[in-house]
Amino acid sequence: MVYQRSAVEALPAYVQGKSIPDAIKLSSNENPYPPLESVAEVVRECATSFHLYPDMSAAGLVARLAERWNVRPEEVAVGSGSVEVASQLIHASAGEGDEVMFAWRSFEAYPILVQVAGATPVPVPLTADDRHDLDAMVAAITDRTRLIFICTPNNPTGSVVTRAEMQNFLDRVPKEVLVVIDEAYSHFDDDPESVDGLEFFRSHPNVAVLHTFSKAYGLAGLRVGYAIAPERVATNLRRVAVPFGVSTLAQAAAIASLDAESELQERVDVILGERTRVVAKLRDSGWQLHDSLGNFVWLRTGSATAEVDAILREHGVVARAFLGDGIRVTIGSPEMNDRFLAAIGNTA
Ligand code: PMP
Repeated sequence: MVYQRSAVEALPAYVQGKSIPDAIKLSSNENPYPPLESVAEVVRECATSFHLYPDMSAAGLVARLAERWNVRPEEVAVGSGSVEVASQLIHASAGEGDEVMFAWRSFEAYPILVQVAGATPVPVPLTADDRHDLDAMVAAITDRTRLIFICTPNNPTGSVVTRAEMQNFLDRVPKEVLVVIDEAYSHFDDDPESVDGLEFFRSHPNVAVLHTFSKAYGLAGLRVGYAIAPERVATNLRRVAVPFGVSTLAQAAAIASLDAESELQERVDVILGERTRVVAKLRDSGWQLHDSLGNFVWLRTGSATAEVDAILREHGVVARAFLGDGIRVTIGSPEMNDRFLAAIGNTA
């Protein structure tokens, strides 16, 4: 193992937040809807078989995903949430002295996972309008760069990378560097100009795509995500994977969710309508927001972050505060969003 104990001790450990009675949770970009009945049914059916280990290769789910995306099963690798697959991608590609690049601010797990793997995180600041600074990212590439994460829509800013920007970026990235397009929120991205990761996977030998069942598919508690990656990368992901990492329940629920995509899309459409409503109300009350293409909004609260977060909490709204920077608020059900809007109204 390459990392030092002192380096691990420098990493943040998860601390359970203070619980607030009757609060609504808008802090993890979950789907506000309960599981679909068809999905709950297959999970119940698993109740007779979970004394046995799951299928370690998740063959049924891998085959279904390969069919869904028109790729080969050898190009699909599943894991216990896409965060686990991101970790596998890092472990499979980068070791001590190697660099892994990502925009910052972005998904907060990236720098932690990179450090756990003993590699060096290279965060590249977003532009002033919270977009990926792809020119700066190209300029930051060195001969030690192994992996670049592009999160689009970006968590927590909701900004996207366009197809044209991605094409131009990939033209300038050396082919030995793996570019991972993290599309955790792509179901909520209704901008036709945005990147379609699969398109770039098909045209570039150094592109992988990361997907999750936790957001639009509503399976956050079951932990399942996957990568579509060049075969040599996907094979390496299986090499570094924790055995039996995706439970029988998660595999079955993911397949059932793929069977119910149109029903799930109806729910996504309601969330998009709510996003429009929430953003309009916030702008009406004076908040300056960039468009968000995720299932969340990003409030640039700067030095007032702790104060605004405290007011939200007083009103029973738990959002995700990044001190000194901003607050990310998940788009929930209409009722939840009303409570958030009422609470934020008290911060003016
Ligand atoms: N990527 C991004 C950008 C995310 O925001 C998240 C969850 N917050 C993940 C990956 C991981 O999701 P999961 O492990 O639940 O699949």
